[in-house]
Amino acid sequence: MNVKERFLKYVSYETTSDEDSPSVPSTEGQNVLLKVLFDELKELGLSPEMNVGYVTAVIPANVEGCKKVAFLAHVDTSSAVSGKDIKPQLIKYNGGDIVLNGGTVISVKDNPVLESYIGEEIITSDGTTLLGADDKAGVAEIMDAVEKLLKSDIKHGEIHVAFTCDEEIGRGTDTFDVKKFGADFGYTIDGGLLGEIEYENFNAASAVLTVNGKSIHPGSAKNKMKNAVDLFCEFHSMLPVAMRPVHTEGYEGFYMGEEVKGSVENLVCKYIIRDHDKAKFEDKKAFFVSVVKFLNEKYGENTFVAEIKDSYYNMAEIIADNFHLIKSAEKAMEMAGIAPCIIPIRGGTDGAHLSYEGLPCPNLSTGGMNFHGRMECIPSFALEKMSEVILNIISIYSEK
Ligand SMILES: [Zn+2]
Repeated sequence: MNVKERFLKYVSYETTSDEDSPSVPSTEGQNVLLKVLFDELKELGLSPEMNVGYVTAVIPANVEGCKKVAFLAHVDTSSAVSGKDIKPQLIKYNGGDIVLNGGTVISVKDNPVLESYIGEEIITSDGTTLLGADDKAGVAEIMDAVEKLLKSDIKHGEIHVAFTCDEEIGRGTDTFDVKKFGADFGYTIDGGLLGEIEYENFNAASAVLTVNGKSIHPGSAKNKMKNAVDLFCEFHSMLPVAMRPVHTEGYEGFYMGEEVKGSVENLVCKYIIRDHDKAKFEDKKAFFVSVVKFLNEKYGENTFVAEIKDSYYNMAEIIADNFHLIKSAEKAMEMAGIAPCIIPIRGGTDGAHLSYEGLPCPNLSTGGMNFHGRMECIPSFALEKMSEVILNIISIYSEK
């Protein structure tokens, strides 16, 4: 199988993760694909391990004294769009918008990078589902690099690979045992456009705001009713309007109200709070708490209750002490003729969790784009290029 054939095979498995399922992996389809990968690694002559929610394998070193480098990708796909019965289309791209079924259009206007793909083959879905390049492109690229490495005489240290589950629902590393995995550092292959290197992600927290009201018949409510709906609106209006996702980009953080449920007597709103900068992140949480305090002084103790919980932290702090990872990735991309481009992640990655658990782990491009949507696509050559980048990284670390 070449890397494209691998990719087309992996997207044929339905592996949509499910936030509401308590099992690991959250859906059985992920186990099916993990088992396929386990079998393929075995066929390549390795001794893979099937753990709860993930598969790992080690390629023994053929040179002494090198660091142990890992490559990781996740098998699940986003539940935002159906990932069932994906019918990949191989399109010879001659320019212009790509029109798919169901009114799905991959437009040049929204995707100016298309211009550089003229004459290339692009893989899309049929327009009714996502494609699954996030992250089956990463899985295929790692598997292809492993196969090529084993069939080559490339010098390398001990190489670790892992395929994980449930990244899209933020549970990808819940059962992952970093110590047992045993690598020194790694890369997730889970990013977008070819050349992207990501090592700065958000610091993230979730906040649950409860508003306790007092219901009284509206006809006799004067000076008595405490309407949680009104109180909530007052709270929400005190958060800075300019710090909403719709008004922010790059390194700008935000507050976002995600879900509101309630009525006069009681209302609960779920918020997320994000910022790349640790100090600004702490400030945002503190401001949220100060609004609660201010309104409680106005309306009475416990009218507003906020529960704030940190979700993950910016891995930049950890990567700063391991910056060779970024330098090596840049060099590996340049060796493959790709222009590297460092961009901040406006979200989190499994690598953020892993970095804080002792496996420094920046994220590299898969070459795909428009993830989590019907317009998701990837040029075939990107699959080959990223497999090459992985082999280049392996070579770079064999020199140390
Ligand atoms: Zn992903």
